[in-house]
Amino acid sequence: MALTIGVDIGGTKIASGVVAEDGRIIDRALRPTPAASPELVAEAIADAAIELAARHPVEAVGLGAAGFVDETRSIVRFAPNLVWREEPLRKKVAELVGLPVVVENDANATAWGEYRFGAGRGESHVVCVALGTGIGGGIVLGGELYRGRWGMGAELGHMQVVPGGLPCGCGNHGCWEQYASGNALVREARVNAAADPASAARLLELAGTPDAVVGQHVTDAAREGDAAALAAFAFVAGWLAQGLADLAAILDPGCFIIGGGVSGAADLFLDQVRADYAARLTGRGHRPLAGIRAAELGPAAGMVGSADLARLR
Ligand SMILES: [Zn+2]
Repeated sequence: MALTIGVDIGGTKIASGVVAEDGRIIDRALRPTPAASPELVAEAIADAAIELAARHPVEAVGLGAAGFVDETRSIVRFAPNLVWREEPLRKKVAELVGLPVVVENDANATAWGEYRFGAGRGESHVVCVALGTGIGGGIVLGGELYRGRWGMGAELGHMQVVPGGLPCGCGNHGCWEQYASGNALVREARVNAAADPASAARLLELAGTPDAVVGQHVTDAAREGDAAALAAFAFVAGWLAQGLADLAAILDPGCFIIGGGVSGAADLFLDQVRADYAARLTGRGHRPLAGIRAAELGPAAGMVGSADLARLR
């Protein structure tokens, strides 16, 4: 059975695993992400891969990196949360490990993992939307990962949905991820709690003050019927549905997969997303409705997807 290593390179930790052909993770290795230099990051990735390769007959290594990866899947052009600038990551790691290496954008790798082994199994056209700090986007069309001409495609979170809207970390204003993400959920809950504390009684009981509200508070309070928390979920659900309807107008996917930290609370908002999506979809009533599903693989999707992309390299 062909085994490959998948590596999820985050801002704080490097999660590596040996993945089988059926998507099962059979071994893992974890390293902290060295913040100081690209050389140390490459060495930490290689160190974990060498450890795993000593225990299993692996064929290749797939790296999922949070950044802009070039179309040859070799160079990380820019990573907002790591020290990479025009970083030849593929070459560095391949030289250290002595195995073939491919580099993929982490959201693309996540989408691929869900398409192959998770909520997108059996589909051919899939759009994955991961709600966390921002929105991670990945698109599979006709069974192929869509990367764009220069590898920069599927940055769905940076569609401008509100002209002159909230500032985004990317430098623009009004990006989708400012309205439909984990951060947007928390921001809205804080605003609601500050504006009308009476509507946020349970939320404020959990958090103490509006500024201390975190995502788990919003989820827990919403489950207990807290009006401010439910309103925050409704806000995110509405904007999420609008963006999905816009994406359907362009891509016509068979299903959307909603992942990221917020998807753990899918039962609190996905029904509204489905209803709002159906109400806003162009051509509604005369076309099939795409499925809108919660992701199934959780945080492992990126590792599993990276490993599979290395196998199919
Ligand atoms: Zn943006």
